[in-house]
Amino acid sequence: MKRTLLAALATALLVTGCESNPTVGGIMSSLSSGLTIGSGSGSMPSDSGFQPLKTLKALTTTDISPEQELQIGREAAAVLLGAAPLVKNEAVQRYVGNVGQWVAAQAARPDIAWHFGVIDTPHVNAFAAPGGFILITRGLLERLEGESELAAVLAHEIAHVLQRHYVKGMISKDRTGAIIGLLGEAAASSRGHRYEIGALTNVAKGLYSSGLDKDDEYQADRIGVVLSVRAGYDPYGLARVLQMYAASSGDESFELLFGTHPSPQSRLEALARMIDGRFDAFERSGAQNTAAFDRAVGRLKRGGRG
Ligand SMILES: [Zn+2]
Repeated sequence: MKRTLLAALATALLVTGCESNPTVGGIMSSLSSGLTIGSGSGSMPSDSGFQPLKTLKALTTTDISPEQELQIGREAAAVLLGAAPLVKNEAVQRYVGNVGQWVAAQAARPDIAWHFGVIDTPHVNAFAAPGGFILITRGLLERLEGESELAAVLAHEIAHVLQRHYVKGMISKDRTGAIIGLLGEAAASSRGHRYEIGALTNVAKGLYSSGLDKDDEYQADRIGVVLSVRAGYDPYGLARVLQMYAASSGDESFELLFGTHPSPQSRLEALARMIDGRFDAFERSGAQNTAAFDRAVGRLKRGGRG
């Protein structure tokens, strides 16, 4: 099974090409290209005549083009990377990127350039940003016990991107019209990004600290399990991760995770209703690929630099 999985993985990487470079350099260059991060240039004048609240009411995810979604995603990913830098270990980044690309390939969305990274914080969490940016914390990676668990965590985040949950969440949190500003300014983008970057950053920060709708979390769990199974992994990977969360109540490394997600217990119950013995055949054949996981994550735990 392992050999089959690796062969399939190699094929998938060939098929999806090099655009989705999972390396540290790839993530950084894609973040910095076409976007000036920071304050200063191009604030939208406050007297520009916008009526954001009225307009926002009508704004939905379908009003946001893939290009705009990517722009919003870069900004949101920059917020996350501003909070914690990428782990400086290329072997670990490459390993997590390979697993992520393989799981994401199951969604058959070649229009999305997926980027995966491990950020250097002891807090336990994983995040997605619109457009295909996915980050897992070192604290979570070090607590996982095998590749199927890593695949499950990444698959949940991939599902958030596929369902555009973060775009939806940002629209509903955007009280200043930052996204409307982005849409309005897109036509003039040849003259530079003149929308209010600071305002969009605040929207992203607000969403990452308050979390998505609970229903979106349950949906990401369901879709994530399907993607993991399609990728050939043990379908109970997510259940094991949630059990680990449930056993960690009171651990302050989990504070933000617990504050932004339904309780592990309720997610486990929802998952049990969904799985209901349906994936038992896959459990016996599901890949673990433990050696590769131990090599990469063991190196991280020892503090090795790749
Ligand atoms: Zn989630």
